[in-house]
Amino acid sequence: MKNLFRQRSGPLTRDLTLRPGNFGLGLVPDRHKPDDTVNLVCGYCSTGCSLTVHCRDGRAVNATPTVDYPVNRGLACAKGWQALAPLEAPDRATVPLVRDGRGRLSEVDWDTALTLFVNRFKDIQRRHGAGSVAFLSTGQLVTEEMAYLGALAKFGMGMVHGDGNTRQCMATAVVAYKQAFGFDAPPYTYRDLEESDVIVLIGSNLCIAHPILWQRIGRNSHQPEIVVVDPRRTETAMAATQHYAVAPKSDLVLFYGLASRLIAMGCIDRDFIEAHTESFDEFARHVERYTLDAASKATGLAVDQIQRLADTIAGGERVSLWWTMGVNQSHEGVALAQAIINLALITGNIGRPGTGANSITGQCNAMGSRLFSNTSSLMGGRDFARQDHRRQVAEVLGLDTARIPDTAGLAYDQILHAIRDRAIRGLWVIATNTAHSWIDQRNARDALDRLEFLVVQDLYPDTDTARLADLVLPAAGWAEKDGTFINSERRIGRVRKVRRAPGQALADFHIFRAVADYWGCGDLFRTWQTPEDVFQTVKELSRGMPCDMTGIRDYRMLDQLGGVQWPFPAGTSPGQDQRRLFEDGAFFHPHGRARLLVAEPIAMPEPTSESFPFLLITGRGSSSQWHTQTRTGRSGPLRALVPHHPYAEISPDDARELGIGPGQPVVVWSRRGQIQVYAFLSHIVRPGQIFIPMHYAVANQLTHPSFDPRSRQPAYKACAVNVRRLGRDEAARDPKVSSLGG
Ligand code: SF4
Repeated sequence: MKNLFRQRSGPLTRDLTLRPGNFGLGLVPDRHKPDDTVNLVCGYCSTGCSLTVHCRDGRAVNATPTVDYPVNRGLACAKGWQALAPLEAPDRATVPLVRDGRGRLSEVDWDTALTLFVNRFKDIQRRHGAGSVAFLSTGQLVTEEMAYLGALAKFGMGMVHGDGNTRQCMATAVVAYKQAFGFDAPPYTYRDLEESDVIVLIGSNLCIAHPILWQRIGRNSHQPEIVVVDPRRTETAMAATQHYAVAPKSDLVLFYGLASRLIAMGCIDRDFIEAHTESFDEFARHVERYTLDAASKATGLAVDQIQRLADTIAGGERVSLWWTMGVNQSHEGVALAQAIINLALITGNIGRPGTGANSITGQCNAMGSRLFSNTSSLMGGRDFARQDHRRQVAEVLGLDTARIPDTAGLAYDQILHAIRDRAIRGLWVIATNTAHSWIDQRNARDALDRLEFLVVQDLYPDTDTARLADLVLPAAGWAEKDGTFINSERRIGRVRKVRRAPGQALADFHIFRAVADYWGCGDLFRTWQTPEDVFQTVKELSRGMPCDMTGIRDYRMLDQLGGVQWPFPAGTSPGQDQRRLFEDGAFFHPHGRARLLVAEPIAMPEPTSESFPFLLITGRGSSSQWHTQTRTGRSGPLRALVPHHPYAEISPDDARELGIGPGQPVVVWSRRGQIQVYAFLSHIVRPGQIFIPMHYAVANQLTHPSFDPRSRQPAYKACAVNVRRLGRDEAARDPKVSSLGG
């Protein structure tokens, strides 16, 4: 037997060998008293609420929102209240599974699984080069695991290409911030939601996507104007004081138009612009042509409406602009995000309480991924292409600089292309569900089918992607391991092990350690015995960077302080629990100024036509569903809160014209596929629009594979489709429809 953890010497790890039963059960002992309560950051969304897990007789039995955590202050959404349920599901992955000669997944022990993992990937690399094996990871791992995976794959296993599912949700914001501010730095703290007098939400259904942040707005005592810019009359739009139902993908012109109008009205902050930005004159020249009439024509809003929005922004003392996926998941998302940033900059709405150009990110640790996953950025928010950055990372890790690639490698969509082109033949997928969530599912599945060897590491063996795998590695979930998350407001918070993973499932951290050892590069990571060891390295990687967190002594300090927002360099006083960036007007570019960046609007990649007269919008359906429902689908209460079957929102006007009644099965088709769903007649969508929640796998059978050219983020929000009522005979013949109850 191979001694997996031979370099470990502590009492917890002695005598651990690769025998089934040594993993998950007892690898990390319970450190909590039998009836303890333990606080840890929620494992779903980027809000980063703290949950208090209650243990009885040593078992985690319940989770409730933590009362005194500065993020959620005693509140949680339904997912938080049900956080433990998915972990207790009876169909967890508990042993490694290998596809056998008859195409069935069969149980094997860890030694067999890891030997196969290494032999197959090394064989592919030997035949086709180091870059022929890639990885796709996630914003769901703790930062320590992300750092381990990124370092292992790129510095240990020689991979060139690896990306995260964070490409699907916030790559656009990353690029926009880096270019405008000089670093990927969301500037706000959540208290800004309580301190604004004008809150502008762009492409954000905050009620549904970030319900606790919506609650924070509810605590705002300034009677703020709440402005929603969204083609749909979402739950958030219904509760807002102003809703601007722009034509889909016309928001870039709207924001240029608003900037133009504010400049013309003289409602800009000249002192701030002169002291803290560059290229204002070019910017003003660029937006000049976006008159009220031009903006009205593009957006479908009346001139008076746009003027009212400009007046609202001009009249606000503390204006904050917030965006989510309606901006990021666009074919011109970076330009739009920068147009929002520009508006904050020219009006001086940044660096003060209640202001900011604020991207709210998606997954619980998307922010950790942005800084430390070693995918699009080199660890610590650095640049792979810069030799000084590679040298800094090599020094911290004690590596030869030559081990660090000088390129970030391919983005997610490019990796899938490379698979179809047979340049990449082996893929390691960690905690993401490509076969469901990637845009234009047919192409994504085609790529996965072409792989010589697909490894999926997940909590469940039956995700859409795991079903295609050659090897499934059973992973522990949130609350079954230790580490840290970084939330949307840059707060580093603790995740703690409060329950044991089932069977032989292992924390991703321990899977990465095992892979390193079997691969033969374990010595590179010999100092990383525990997640906290990696945390100490992550701290060093942040030293001197804008995200400096060297003032956090250890996990204990994080526990005591209730999370800490970066920057928190050594010597920082821990007294301040809310940290906002740019209060001194100094940005991260070498000259300290922010850049006002513009671009020409690009036509929508797939506009409607006679054959496809409806525009499909996808997005979050409810606060009880999370992404591909891998976890939320395993909670009875959460399932009961949402429609089980896929549905499409259709406007009552369109439905009347097409003879579609409420709840009837309909066919929706695009140039890429055809699906059957139920009609949900609703004024949330306007005539000519259809909305399908992304949580149902069928949605991405229709979506069009277009991407922002700068961020490579998929544009999920707009493609052309058609819809018709499903004939009575068709419904009767089709078992899928019968099973839908139609
Ligand atoms: S809002 Fe997000 S972080 Fe808070 S409980 Fe819900 S899913 Fe968890």
